[in-house]
Amino acid sequence: MLSGPGGVGKGTVVRLLLERHDGLRLSVSATTRPPRAGELDGRDYHFLSDAEFDELVISGALLEWAEFAGRRYGTPWSSVEQQLEDARTVILEIDVQGALQVRRRFAEAVLVFLAPPSPDALRERLRTRGTDSEERITERLAIAEWEQRQAEAFDHIVTNDDLDRAAEEIGRILSASSAADAGAGR
Ligand code: 5GP
Repeated sequence: MLSGPGGVGKGTVVRLLLERHDGLRLSVSATTRPPRAGELDGRDYHFLSDAEFDELVISGALLEWAEFAGRRYGTPWSSVEQQLEDARTVILEIDVQGALQVRRRFAEAVLVFLAPPSPDALRERLRTRGTDSEERITERLAIAEWEQRQAEAFDHIVTNDDLDRAAEEIGRILSASSAADAGAGR
């Protein structure tokens, strides 16, 4: 699981990891937030109405879900199962609350916290991304402070000071954990 403050660059790191490691797949989350420019339904997220999301929660179709900046995000079991048919390892790119929920259900999950080099770097990234209003950026930074305090609960903390280097470090963590799985006969 790859987690960390929104805007830290999880999406970009995940894209690099998927390019570099054949045996990896990404779980596609469901969300009630509207698509950003360039995002595709079913590829980036399953974009749902509030009622559709309620339906998933009530029917137990979500492995975890969390509210983030006023929108809901969740991992459908079906998405993880489908990806596990094709690959040994599935990445969940989710927020910190969700990662901690998954940890409670699956002790063997590997949690990686992607940290910004500094709080200023995070603010800059959110601004230059240009997808959030100033009000939403302030809200996201307040959440990021709380998220940063949860980093200790994670198995690994990787600083996103350099995209290439961070992706390489996470790649090594993934290889080490799948070698450990194979060793345990899983
Ligand atoms: P964004 O709106 O920037 O795409 O995502 C906002 C936050 O929601 C990010 O921290 C992202 O990792 C998180 N997120 C995306 N999908 C999920 C999910 O399925 N579950 C949870 N708990 N968080 C998610």
